[in-house]
Amino acid sequence: MKSNSANANKEAFYILVSIILGLLVGFALYYSGNQELANYIKPVGDVFLKFLKMIIVPLVLASIFMAIINIGSPDELGSMGIRAMAYYFMTTAIAVFIGIIMVNLIQPGVGVDISSITSELSEAQTQKFQNSASKGLGSTIVGVLLDAIPTNPFKAMVDMKILQIIVFSLFLGIVSLLNKKVAMPLINFMESLEKVSMIMIEVIMKIAPFGIFALMTYVIANSGFNAIYGLSKYMIAVILGLFFHFLVLIFIASWRHKSSPFFIIKSCIPPMLTAFSTASSASTLPITMNAVQDNLGVNKKTAQFVLPLGATINMDGTALYESVAVIFIGQAYGLDLSIANQIIIFITASLAAVGAAAIPGAGLVTMSIVLSAVGYPLEGIALILAVDRILDMFRTMINVFGDCVGTVVVDSFSKNDR
Ligand code: ASP
Repeated sequence: MKSNSANANKEAFYILVSIILGLLVGFALYYSGNQELANYIKPVGDVFLKFLKMIIVPLVLASIFMAIINIGSPDELGSMGIRAMAYYFMTTAIAVFIGIIMVNLIQPGVGVDISSITSELSEAQTQKFQNSASKGLGSTIVGVLLDAIPTNPFKAMVDMKILQIIVFSLFLGIVSLLNKKVAMPLINFMESLEKVSMIMIEVIMKIAPFGIFALMTYVIANSGFNAIYGLSKYMIAVILGLFFHFLVLIFIASWRHKSSPFFIIKSCIPPMLTAFSTASSASTLPITMNAVQDNLGVNKKTAQFVLPLGATINMDGTALYESVAVIFIGQAYGLDLSIANQIIIFITASLAAVGAAAIPGAGLVTMSIVLSAVGYPLEGIALILAVDRILDMFRTMINVFGDCVGTVVVDSFSKNDR
């Protein structure tokens, strides 16, 4: 696979430096009691985030559409879709399995003094978790599927409903492919929109180091580190689990890409660290799109098709985190942790992650489905609330890395079809 190595090196280096500086400045502001100074830096991060979000709708619309046109055959499209789904399914299952092993080995919830770390759930939060839990898994999955079909594609774009945009764009693309003559002006328009979007991403990449620095500084300066001490074992279980899953993904990527782990990591640093600082797979999508094509040399049509889908439904990190968090709550409250319950957690956490939106904090909401599936109290969420943002950063980073590896895997298997 071809790649643009020198560029990748430079990007990775600047972004690494920016994240380290952000961490240092953030810690300095936090420990010197000057958190409010971070408010002056935050707008730089907001500008970066806004530009990223600005590009999502045109990018998803044009990418999926052009992927269909470029793939050119419904058969190839189908096999690419099946491969992507198989990859999502398998890696999510591996992630949850690792999470369950970690939390059973480390047992972070055993002996936890519940009263010392419980933060209050606001009324709005309780309502949100209850709503999500009361829907149950069945209707959540059916709901996700039904909700994916837009009744008004323009509203879907206005509301940034990525799954709805994907479905509309798929439909539009397939019909255009089968009626190329009438669709030619539309195809030309979409082709141009896709190309210009990619150029816009390159421009946004130039401010990425500044944006990431600002976002990191703000988050670290405003983190409640006091809460971390009480929850450190739980955090270690999540982060170690994510790390092991990261190793599994690197192994898969190196094998399918036929290159060194170091090359894979370096190529994925820009999207991974953007995911870390934004805690949103959706906001990171433009950077991910750029990295898999430019740095990993993934075929354009694979990236166009697999990435928007992956960013929305493939969340290994979230699935792993949900399983650890639920079992942690079970341990802390001394609830039933039988194999049967852990199997229910395994299944529901895998599916609840699919239902989680690609935005900050979404995993925490769908976790209530897992809790209620095993009959654990929703109030347990209050135990882990204080460190959720920090863990969100780690799990989003793995979600996005999983998406990058997914395109490599699907691309490597689809080569024979070309
Ligand atoms: N923030 C995650 C993401 O965007 C979802 C989650 O909350 O776990 O991928």
